[in-house]
Amino acid sequence: MTLLDRAIVRLLPAVPRPVVQLFSARYIAGTTIADAVQVVQQLNAEGKLATIDVLGEEITHEEEARSIAQAYRDVFDEIEREHLDSNVSVKLTALGLGLSYDMCRANLEDVVRQAAEDHSFVRIDMEDSSTTDDTLRLYRTLREDGHENVGVVLQAHLRRTFGDIHALADLKPNVRLCKGIYVEPTSIAFTDADAIRANFVRCLDALLETRAYVGVATHDEWLIGKALNGIAERGLERDEYELQMLLGVRERRAGELVAAGHRLRVYVPFGEQWYAYSLRRLQENPAMAGTIARATVGRVLGRAA
Ligand SMILES: Cc1cc2nc3c(=O)[nH]c(=O)nc-3n(C[C@H](O)[C@H](O)[C@H](O)COP(=O)(O)OP(=O)(O)OC[C@H]3O[C@@H](n4cnc5c(N)ncnc54)[C@H](O)[C@@H]3O)c2cc1C
Repeated sequence: MTLLDRAIVRLLPAVPRPVVQLFSARYIAGTTIADAVQVVQQLNAEGKLATIDVLGEEITHEEEARSIAQAYRDVFDEIEREHLDSNVSVKLTALGLGLSYDMCRANLEDVVRQAAEDHSFVRIDMEDSSTTDDTLRLYRTLREDGHENVGVVLQAHLRRTFGDIHALADLKPNVRLCKGIYVEPTSIAFTDADAIRANFVRCLDALLETRAYVGVATHDEWLIGKALNGIAERGLERDEYELQMLLGVRERRAGELVAAGHRLRVYVPFGEQWYAYSLRRLQENPAMAGTIARATVGRVLGRAA
């Protein structure tokens, strides 16, 4: 993106909610669990796997966190009833991390136990750097308590990630590796696109060397190529890694990767709390700056007319 594009995209929070909702519809399954089920059925029919996310983050009351944990119970019920090929992704702030570490741990354990009962798997999303230590600590605690059906996310833009991979190696972790979406200071994060890519490759190599199960989460063609080479060089079988993409992004490319024989998982968010997630997706869409500029100018002209 050019500097001008970035400046325009930073104005997104000023764009009216209905406009954001319209532009971001492709990234969200819908507001109800039935919407998510329908989308996952379609993905499964195309040979793709899914991970379902109940939208909600930075909640402010304990009851909200509990109701999100409860919503995951409903998701597992649907996964089982509809025979969906899907696991789930959770955000720890949605389970109360911002309110109390212990409450969040209890909610997370609850979700992971429900998943185990249904032979399912829970991926803990990674949020901004204020949550990294607690997230990795909770992941280790759960694994050391014997929960095998849980994985975590590491962000290649953080300088600490290479060290975190080595610190986690004894767990033979299940890791989704992504670039990282949260804006972080240069003291702790690479901010240059090439530096982030270089660290992604370095971290991916380290994960594959430690025999971690890796979900390579990127739409970046250069990185997809690097990942496919690394996987081929190590002779990994189809069930020893997966590629991951977001709903609504590079769908045709995802189909090609499935046709080439790779396991590919799509992140499927649903729920009423669609706004924060939508903003993050729109901020990453290279076409968004022009679209916002046109829509905003259109509104202003419309109002003036
Ligand atoms: C399955 C999955 C789970 C994720 N989980 C987390 C997480 O837990 N924590 C976290 O911090 N981040 C997460 N992310 C987001 C990730 O960190 C990146 O911000 C995001 O994937 C964009 O980086 P990229 O590697 O695709 O490269 P980019 O350079 O951003 O994108 C490469 C190309 O993909 C296309 N593209 C990318 N995004 C869009 C979009 N929104 N709309 C249209 N086209 C687009 C464009 O063609 C772009 O040129 C996740 C990403 C995926 C795929």
